[in-house]
Amino acid sequence: MQTKNMRILVTGAAGFLGSHLCDALLAEGHTVVGVDNLSTGSLANLEHLRAEPRFDFREQDICLPFEPGAVNFVFNFASPASPVDYMNLGIETLRVGSEGTRNALEIASRYGAGFLHASTSECYGDPKVHPQSEDYWGHVNPIGPRSVYDEAKRFSEALVMAYHRYRGVDTRLVRIFNTYGPRLQFNDGRVISNLMTQALRGEDLTVYGDGSQTRSFCYVSDEIDGILRLARSNEHLPVNIGNPIEWTILECAQEVLAVTGATCQIRYQPLPTDDPLQRRPDITRARTLLGWEPKIDLHTGLSLSLPYFQQSVSATAVQSSS
Ligand code: NAD
Ligand code: UDP
Repeated sequence: MQTKNMRILVTGAAGFLGSHLCDALLAEGHTVVGVDNLSTGSLANLEHLRAEPRFDFREQDICLPFEPGAVNFVFNFASPASPVDYMNLGIETLRVGSEGTRNALEIASRYGAGFLHASTSECYGDPKVHPQSEDYWGHVNPIGPRSVYDEAKRFSEALVMAYHRYRGVDTRLVRIFNTYGPRLQFNDGRVISNLMTQALRGEDLTVYGDGSQTRSFCYVSDEIDGILRLARSNEHLPVNIGNPIEWTILECAQEVLAVTGATCQIRYQPLPTDDPLQRRPDITRARTLLGWEPKIDLHTGLSLSLPYFQQSVSATAVQSSS
């Protein structure tokens, strides 16, 4: 990816990561065509770009063939991402990972554009190797409730590598680990959104299982920085971008209480089927190839996200009282 004046397609532009990516690309001077079917994203995430002449938004399901015009680079971020969302939208998730990704790859192939696909730590499933490095093939239940997402993303990776090998498309694969920050849908059921909104409303914090399962949380600005570095590199193999500091979910809940100043109780609920018990990226490849490392720790990242969650909680309180 060159550094200036490209015309770039972002699928999933109205989502959490897609909208931050659009901001970063526009700030670098590029022109951006953002497409999204608004199934889990929101135009509110793009409201601040309404008057931006270098940004063009199109409401579009990428599972249907579409024509954005000539582009130099494609960032393929369209897909439900929260477990609650992708289990509600199971068939749609499999479709966007297969047909949608293929349509996006066809566009890259047609225009000789670079292509970066948003893959996921879920490709490792409930991992038996810890931390997870990119050469681990994973431990995924192919017919479990999470398989609509995990297998869609694994298929997407195979499709991306096939377009690279057979059609010569200049592809990249980023395996994103749990990322959070402003614009994370506050009601999408992911752990940071749930715990932050519950704490701000003074409700019990829901912890699934005994809370000993782990995740490694990356703040959005670190994630976008890693993704852009990967786009500018020549690496075709997958690269993990995530924060390697690992937290149990109980520790994460304590951190949310510390940041919000709330004094809520913990309410334990059953652990969902196939919920991965541990997750931490090995980021040696990102460090070595991209010179990337995350800078923002969980406490700082949650503090930076607090005003967004406060605003979302007050907006919904006003709506429900009127
Ligand atoms: P999100 O739900 O906020 O954004 C996804 C966007 O894709 C939404 O705006 C949605 O409306 C759009 N979309 C879904 N299906 C579509 C379709 N058929 N056509 C057009 N648009 C469609 O989720 P996010 O957290 O921003 O995730 C963005 C991408 O990053 C996803 O591909 C996700 O799998 C990947 N990812 C995210 C994380 C994370 O922690 N946030 C972790 C791993 C991977
Ligand atoms: N989780 C939880 N309470 C919640 C939501 C999620 O304890 O209110 C747990 C969930 O079981 C998982 C972890 O937090 O172990 C991360 O869940 P999330 O849905 O954010 O993403 P995942 O990493 O599972 O895709």
